[in-house]
Amino acid sequence: MNKKLKLAVQKKGRLSEKSIGLLRNCGLEIENFQERLIVSASNFNLEVLFLRDDDIPEYVQENVAHIGIVGENVVLEKNLDVEIVKKLGFGRCTLSLAIPEKNKVTNIQDIQNKTIATSYPNIVRNYLNENGVEAKVIELNGSVEIAPSLGVADYICDLVSTGNTLKQNKLKKSFNILNSQAVLIKSKKLDNYDELKILYRKLLDRIESSLKAQKSKYIMMNVPKDSLKEIIKIIPSLKSPTILPLADENLLAVHAVIFEDKFWEINEELKQAGASGILSIPIENIIL
Ligand code: ATP
Ligand code: MG
Repeated sequence: MNKKLKLAVQKKGRLSEKSIGLLRNCGLEIENFQERLIVSASNFNLEVLFLRDDDIPEYVQENVAHIGIVGENVVLEKNLDVEIVKKLGFGRCTLSLAIPEKNKVTNIQDIQNKTIATSYPNIVRNYLNENGVEAKVIELNGSVEIAPSLGVADYICDLVSTGNTLKQNKLKKSFNILNSQAVLIKSKKLDNYDELKILYRKLLDRIESSLKAQKSKYIMMNVPKDSLKEIIKIIPSLKSPTILPLADENLLAVHAVIFEDKFWEINEELKQAGASGILSIPIENIIL
């Protein structure tokens, strides 16, 4: 039997493009996905299901989709029996408490006995419980920001990235309750299917390679022979840097992979140590 691994992604929204982008970085060919709800990859035993993001944890819990890509905020709110396998580094946002501009809340105790409107009642209730604070939580499914001006709630708890929507509604961010990003989730029932498990491991390996590559750059530079030892100390290369001779006998070419978060610091140090002509290029994949 030629079983297909089923992966759920958001059909239309903030996570859609990057979810498909990640799969394409893993070498999967997925076409015409705008028009259909289920699309097969043409070069991997994979079917992609396009769903509302809120439904993804449930589909995965029931093993209808074996794995899924969805915001951690949605997974925690639904609180279903699925495994969070990996943070994917996109779709970052924070679930924050926001209060009217004229108010002041300095710590969690200040919200005792207040009313909070949110689309994330479970996460908010857990947070209040963990902090020993009692407050009334009202669930709203959209336009949460207008609740304080309508007198429905004192404060709100909502996803914030730029804060512009808050400003338009005369609200300000007070403190963060959760930092979220897109995650890969997996059905706990998947382990019962050997064939699917193999496909899953294969896809996960590719996803991990692609994430590693996104965080890395390949750099190349020319180095005076005398500075080689010092330069090598600066480069935290994956294994060992590549060293090549050049036509100019006093120089060597050094190639290495470095992590992007240190990119600028390392470049400055390399320059100071005598490196010149430093080139950097993005990496598509890293297979260790
Ligand atoms: P659907 O129609 O699939 O239910 P939606 O309207 O519920 O879509 P989107 O607004 O597309 O969802 O957001 C999807 C996810 O994107 C959120 O659950 C969250 O994890 C992430 N996200 C990233 N930045 C933001 C942001 N600024 N505001 C809201 N969500 C964000
Ligand atoms: Mg939704």
